[in-house]
Amino acid sequence: MQRLQDRVTVITGAGSGIGLATARRFAEEGARVVCVDLDEETGRAAAAEVGGLFVRADVTDEDDVARVFATAFDTYGSVDVAFNNAGISPPDDDSILETGIDAWRRVQEVNLTSVYLCCKHVIPYMRRQGKGSIVNTASFVAVMGSATSQISYTASKGGVLAMSRELGVQFAREGIRVNALCPGPVNTPLLRELFAKDPERAQRRLVHVPLGRFAEASEIAAAVAFLASDDASFITGSEFLVDGGISGA
Ligand code: NAD
Repeated sequence: MQRLQDRVTVITGAGSGIGLATARRFAEEGARVVCVDLDEETGRAAAAEVGGLFVRADVTDEDDVARVFATAFDTYGSVDVAFNNAGISPPDDDSILETGIDAWRRVQEVNLTSVYLCCKHVIPYMRRQGKGSIVNTASFVAVMGSATSQISYTASKGGVLAMSRELGVQFAREGIRVNALCPGPVNTPLLRELFAKDPERAQRRLVHVPLGRFAEASEIAAAVAFLASDDASFITGSEFLVDGGISGA
């Protein structure tokens, strides 16, 4: 029996980066994976690769999010794990003096409101089951300041962390664990795109990683699999840092 055998797992942003690596890891560990993405091509390819179900959805749209969890439940009969992970990178200049209100709002919508919507729509299923595990993707920037000045991004991830703590505490007695995953810099299209625009930024970031490199997405996926599994049965409301030592330095 594998650790995540038959666990019905919804992964948002499954078409790329951390979400894709997590879909692969969960499939390897026996889970039934529901891949959710806005991008039809990559999301469908991910689902095909892991033998899962694809649901195209915009995680900022409440009807779409409700449909995602209803589809997972109707297809497999339960929703055991939600990995609320879809997100976008900060605008080009995300300092408080430069970020416009529209860019600010967009980042909050995709990175924070989406997590609110996913939690809101998955918790009723988990409540009825009397169990479930939710992992929300925050970032190391949620727990410390960032010299790269990312105000809208950092604020959105701080919100994800606070919401995860709150829900972890609120629903603990109902068997639902909620944790915030806080990755350091991870070698994914999101990061590569950011650093392609500003190569010096990559060097500045790297200097601050005690392990001396960026994470591979598979290393983040390993942490998600742990948090979602019964191996993490006493972990809830936590900020789970997978950051190569940045926050400890
Ligand atoms: P990525 O760009 O490789 O993948 C993000 C996926 O989310 C894409 O497939 C994209 O299509 C999807 N997506 C975006 N908006 C969506 C929407 N509205 N509805 C549905 N799907 C949508 O990014 P990644 O690096 O894998 O990042 C995943 C998460 O990890 C994000 O929340 C990001 O903020 C967070 N994170 C990333 C890093 C890093 O260094 N890469 C570090 C810390 C946290």
